[in-house]
Amino acid sequence: MLSRRQILWRTGALASVAVAASQWQALAQTANFVIGPAVKPTPLQQISRHVWMIEAADGFPTPDNQGLMANITFIEGSNGVLVFDSGASLQIARMAVEQWRARGGKPVTAIVNSHYHGDHWLGNHGFVEAYGKDLPIYAHPESRKAMAGLHGSYWLESMVKWTNGATMGTEMVLPNRDANHGDTLSLGDVTLKLHHYGVAHTPGDLCLEVVEDRVMCVGDVLMDRRIANMDEGSYLGSFKTFDALEANAKTKIWLPGHGKPGPDVLRWQRELFQGIYDACTAAVKAGEPVESARSKALADPRVASKISETKGFDSNIGKYVSLAYLEAEQAEF
Ligand SMILES: [Zn+2]
Repeated sequence: MLSRRQILWRTGALASVAVAASQWQALAQTANFVIGPAVKPTPLQQISRHVWMIEAADGFPTPDNQGLMANITFIEGSNGVLVFDSGASLQIARMAVEQWRARGGKPVTAIVNSHYHGDHWLGNHGFVEAYGKDLPIYAHPESRKAMAGLHGSYWLESMVKWTNGATMGTEMVLPNRDANHGDTLSLGDVTLKLHHYGVAHTPGDLCLEVVEDRVMCVGDVLMDRRIANMDEGSYLGSFKTFDALEANAKTKIWLPGHGKPGPDVLRWQRELFQGIYDACTAAVKAGEPVESARSKALADPRVASKISETKGFDSNIGKYVSLAYLEAEQAEF
């Protein structure tokens, strides 16, 4: 996935992307055949008493998975249902709604988008289609700003390209409510509480605690056997967020946006990041270049032990070391 920096580098290409996007939308409005095909059903999994999830098997969008790359979570209480992250397209959200209805799930009454990367919110379209245009959709103000700006149209158009048109017909349905750290929402017998501790994966991450179930939905602040896109994030900010999440909630199950939920997700992510970041700090202190930081990171047992089980490791580790190195340099001066 491209970073904001890469997006800015490619500003020259953006004008043509914008034209292409408007053409797709014009076509989608006039002809049904340009709407991408239905997504094949992925069954709901029950995670805890009130929490269900549609698990995305893949970490990256392809024509084959049609953009299904981020988990979609349903939390059902006696008074309502909240969806945490809505998927990457209209088609994915339609599939999720079908699965939810087939289970006998009550109507969805609200959505929280964990952050502004499109795989977590472009599915808003399908939920609004099913449950009405007045559906409250919450996101952090930083995320709302990014979605309404360059990031939104970039993600919408990129998903079409990455999936070879499978997400066509998806429209941006932006969040309509601000949400922030400490906000709570009651679903009757379930209490939901939001956590935000500054920049971690992005400047606008929200984690959602399902208090009674001791489940923490973390979006991309934590991943399980995936290498996180850190282009707009911070290693030091992530460590701060990990500490605060551990201190401020009694979590039993960490539910990431990518990968499987479980009790060890935070430990896994912290070890990987700490291994990368410590190697960069050591290289910076020794006056060594980024290549040396990379060798040190790959040799660190906390990193080395995860290479074979981590999707996207080889293609992304170089970039993540570079970002950690830059941050370690800044921290040293
Ligand atoms: Zn993300």
